[in-house]
Amino acid sequence: MTGANKQEGKSRSAMPQDILEDILEDIPGGILARADFQVLIDVLQGAGYSVIAPTLQEGVIVYDQIAGADELPIGWGDDQDGGQYRTERRDDGELFGYAVGPRTWKRWLFPPRTALWRAQRTQHGFTVEEAAPAAERYAFLGVRSCELQAIGVQDKVFLEGEHRDSVYAERRKKALIIAVNCSTPGGTCFCVSMDTGPKARQGYDLALTEILRPNRHVFLVEAGSERGKEILEGLPLDKAEDEDFKAAQAVTDRAAENMGRSLDAGGIKELLQSNPEHPRWDDVADRCLACGNCTNVCPTCFCSTTEDITSLDGAQAEHARVWDTCFSLDFSYIQGTTVRSDTRARYRQWLTHKFANWFDQFDTSGCVGCGRCITWCPVAIDVTEEITMLRGTAE
Ligand code: SF4
Ligand code: SF4
Repeated sequence: MTGANKQEGKSRSAMPQDILEDILEDIPGGILARADFQVLIDVLQGAGYSVIAPTLQEGVIVYDQIAGADELPIGWGDDQDGGQYRTERRDDGELFGYAVGPRTWKRWLFPPRTALWRAQRTQHGFTVEEAAPAAERYAFLGVRSCELQAIGVQDKVFLEGEHRDSVYAERRKKALIIAVNCSTPGGTCFCVSMDTGPKARQGYDLALTEILRPNRHVFLVEAGSERGKEILEGLPLDKAEDEDFKAAQAVTDRAAENMGRSLDAGGIKELLQSNPEHPRWDDVADRCLACGNCTNVCPTCFCSTTEDITSLDGAQAEHARVWDTCFSLDFSYIQGTTVRSDTRARYRQWLTHKFANWFDQFDTSGCVGCGRCITWCPVAIDVTEEITMLRGTAE
């Protein structure tokens, strides 16, 4: 591409096919100018995708459907700590200069409420119809590396093994994933400890790295799948030079050095499985409200229950799957009794399942180090602190 094409603030049309092929042959991506970022969204929408991306709503950065790039939280960052979250203005125009918020991609892949079937009373009895609607085609824009890993964990839960979940499978098959490598981790992030970030390694169709310098604001765009390459064909890309790859690497190197939290992940499975009676469980139970916030915001938690709703006149009924939490009393109610009747047992179940028993069930940790459960716990219970305390005083 010519030097003129590298000027910013100038919108360009998609590049000729032969030039794009040359670029993709050499390297699996190119440079997208900030001024052309809207083109990416236009191309996604043109390909039939509903674009879900970070937005700023009521002081919180949450994923939602967007129509244009101007709905991104441009120039916003966040300040996160145990039980604390606040958005704040950055002194630049970075589009993705913040960490993850309370909403996760599971909201679209494994929705909080899914009607499974509906029944209608008739003159001679009733009829039943399947209710799960065909899923939209979503393009998830701004998926962080820890979240890619979380989607990979939910893939294992919902798609592998004996019971494949058809609702998840349909949504997952249609979803296009555009990762964004992290530049600014939050105060509760610990993906480096869990080996899940901050640089996206797999599981994306496209990966973006935002490179922001005094006179240069661009995105290194790399394809991770054939579908990703098809999207690239519609973008006005410049060839990525060595300098661009170095600058992109520096972004994630800096992020890795600025993790808000860390955790010694070695031997956690054995540590938790061999300490079910540790006094630390009593300590955390005194603080835990059993509110379930941590499971709601966790990108890998997948527990659900079903509920039936009948219209007042008895003409219609609906059977639905809704998110549940291991912190609710009803969750372990079996045959007239609640198995985990106190908070101590419920917190221990959550932490031990997530960090230890998932290895037995799914051959992976259930934690990807996103930090959400720390930020959104109203009493600032911190998994990294709890595990460190257990390790320090385990027998
Ligand atoms: S650990 Fe925190 S967020 Fe989770 S149930 Fe207890 S109080 Fe609620
Ligand atoms: S347990 Fe906490 S830090 Fe780990 S993935 Fe879930 S929300 Fe994120």
